[in-house]
Amino acid sequence: MTLATPQQKIVRVPHLLNAIDDSLATWLKEHGQGAYRATQIRHWLFVRRASDFQEMTELGQTLRNELAAEFSLWTTSIVRHTQADDGTEKLLLALTDGGQIECVLLRDEVRRTICISTQVGCGMGCVFCASGLDGLERNLTTGEIVEQMLRLLRLLGPDERLSHVVVMGMGEPLANLDNLLPALDEASREDGLGISARRITISTVGLPKPMRRLADAGARYRLAVSLHAPNEALRREIVPVGEKISLAEILAEADHYFDLSGRQLTFEYVLLAGINDSPEHAHELARLLGRRTALGNVIPFNPVSGLPYRTPSTSARQTFRHVLEDHGLAVRFRHKKGDAIDAACGQLRRRTLQQISSLKA
Ligand code: SF4
Repeated sequence: MTLATPQQKIVRVPHLLNAIDDSLATWLKEHGQGAYRATQIRHWLFVRRASDFQEMTELGQTLRNELAAEFSLWTTSIVRHTQADDGTEKLLLALTDGGQIECVLLRDEVRRTICISTQVGCGMGCVFCASGLDGLERNLTTGEIVEQMLRLLRLLGPDERLSHVVVMGMGEPLANLDNLLPALDEASREDGLGISARRITISTVGLPKPMRRLADAGARYRLAVSLHAPNEALRREIVPVGEKISLAEILAEADHYFDLSGRQLTFEYVLLAGINDSPEHAHELARLLGRRTALGNVIPFNPVSGLPYRTPSTSARQTFRHVLEDHGLAVRFRHKKGDAIDAACGQLRRRTLQQISSLKA
């Protein structure tokens, strides 16, 4: 017997978003429908933001009913929808098997950026991260990744357009490349979300083999590599997966990616007070990156309940920045957008799960 909580929806039919083209091509042919119907359905999904097949009024009523009986569009349900004063909105989604993931819409002047998850939990174990605290549960399917994009798209006002995608939510994207790449195809296709590949960024903790595969697949997307430390010893403490992967290997693959894509690399560095935020660390980081065409994206730590780390002081942040800039490195200090809604990856999910378990206790 299969049980579901009220928040969950048991899926008994194929999830259309897992393989839109393949599913529709076969099904439409079998039902005597022209291939142009697939174009119409795509338009309703990605442009007109339809919430179900019944809204697709170009299709006859019978066809709409048949599609609804044959395919599921939504497999997730919204557990929480939070909004911050700065325009950031965050969704906590429940999956059919009870897992939870987060995705975020960020508004910044003309940009409308969505941040999506690729796994339930994460196996990389970065010590400062809420997503990795409970380890990896599973990879998300392609459909579950596309669904996050469509759910966030539907939060936009009629005059707003999605402009950027960042794959920086819960999970290590390159550990789920098989399911991520088809989802990003849907983001970048003209008859999908139509977002240029150069406006799609994949963030990785630095897994050399998948980095090479991403390069071999055309190096279409922007790559952001999370370093978090300027030397091997400190990195092993902050990013446990670093025990098996050296900084030299990661930088070699990043350089290869840059050679193919020609696109500026981003190196990310979460600044933890008293751990990796000294001027010496900044000098070391600048020397490590050398003369690469790169952007240093420094993110002051966002406090996570239950973790001992602290946000660096304003003066420590300023000094860190000035040292990097004095070395000639392009630096961006990311704003902690959405603090009020637990926008750092994994925080809303973790807080909700804690609340649920305290209610059960
Ligand atoms: S920071 Fe990213 S890679 Fe590290 S544990 Fe969190 S989700 Fe995983």
